[in-house]
Amino acid sequence: MQEFQTFVSHLECSYTGKRYPADQLHGLSEAGKPLLVRYDLDALGKAVRKEDLRSRLNEFWRYREFLPVRRSENVVRLGEVMTPILPANKIQRELGCGEILIKDEGRLPTGSFKARGLALAVAMARELGVKRMAMPTNGNAGAALAAYCSRADIETFVFCPADTPKVNVEEIAFQGAKTFLANGLINDCGKIVGEGKEVMHWFDTSTLKEPYRIEGKKTMGLELAEQLGWEVPDVILYPTGGGTGLIGMWKAFNELEAIGWIGSKRPRMVAVQAEGCAPIVKAFEEGTRHAEPWQNAATIAAGIRVPAAVGDFLILDAVRESDGFAVAVSDEAINQAHRECALKEGILLCPEGAATLAALKQELKSGRIKSNERTMLFNCATGLKYPMQSEHYSIDLAKPIDYDFIRDC
Ligand SMILES: *Cc1c(COP(=O)(O)O)cnc(C)c1O
Repeated sequence: MQEFQTFVSHLECSYTGKRYPADQLHGLSEAGKPLLVRYDLDALGKAVRKEDLRSRLNEFWRYREFLPVRRSENVVRLGEVMTPILPANKIQRELGCGEILIKDEGRLPTGSFKARGLALAVAMARELGVKRMAMPTNGNAGAALAAYCSRADIETFVFCPADTPKVNVEEIAFQGAKTFLANGLINDCGKIVGEGKEVMHWFDTSTLKEPYRIEGKKTMGLELAEQLGWEVPDVILYPTGGGTGLIGMWKAFNELEAIGWIGSKRPRMVAVQAEGCAPIVKAFEEGTRHAEPWQNAATIAAGIRVPAAVGDFLILDAVRESDGFAVAVSDEAINQAHRECALKEGILLCPEGAATLAALKQELKSGRIKSNERTMLFNCATGLKYPMQSEHYSIDLAKPIDYDFIRDC
């Protein structure tokens, strides 16, 4: 039983800065805000060198010194691969812009980057003795929770909006979570989890309401920097729901700079939302630090249908500090980008990933993204979980095959 070398010093309220001890079970801070894990970065920087990573497996546990898990026996592995960065050359040429890179997170276990966060949350839950976990989800987080918890012998309760994509609901239930559909949105489901804590004795694993999912999502920032030779792209477009990934990557870049692995250059962080649910965009435009809950949220991109995010100020802070922005795209533009990327690049995005391509196209036009900037789009999940609008034709084997028809289709 090997011990990981870890450098966690304490947890810190992201709003007030108040310190909390590590190695205890925590939800939100007393101020009702997310807790962030803090490390002894001096010691971390001395303990590991970039070169040390080369001999490690191509999985995100290669960054273990940057993560809070102390005992390797608590890690639950399902194949947490480093995800490829794919250039979209044809679309780039057509748009006449800088390099477009797509980080394809659909290759991760359970087919989405939620695996990063939940792998960490479940490892820490084991470390801290949690036996029962619950969460609200639009689909992918629930699937990842169910998978990791089944493997870790932790009981799970998952609450989804009634119109969550069917494949997600089935996946969650099939992987062993007790699965419930509620006739509301993710925030309504979150309330069931929060208010049930006393009677159900479960651990609330909602986005940013526990401190460790963000540490898992942080590995996206570490990983992309390593893959680009310890460089960062000029712009990162991130489909933003709860914002864990955006906040996590921002944290990763700060930690990497603190230990001298990257310089002070940061990507401009662009939070991409759907026009039918754009609370962060509204707050960005109005210059506020918090977002008002979005009414009647509706978009085909279920993963970013999040009317209210507990980490709203962390998303907005990162976007503003990085000189980025928040932008909304229409469902129509999402559908168009979805199809375009499949046809031209052979990359099957999820609708949320397609939203980042739609946003890139829109903002190259508006000039907020410059034609010499190197951009990275996040495809957060495999496109195979989502409906694909496509044409196909039937053949009646009782009749002669009509090759003229086939040619002209
Ligand atoms: C969860 C999810 C998002 C949003 O990620 P956050 O980090 O929570 O903002 C985007 N796309 C997909 C497919 C998701 O599952």
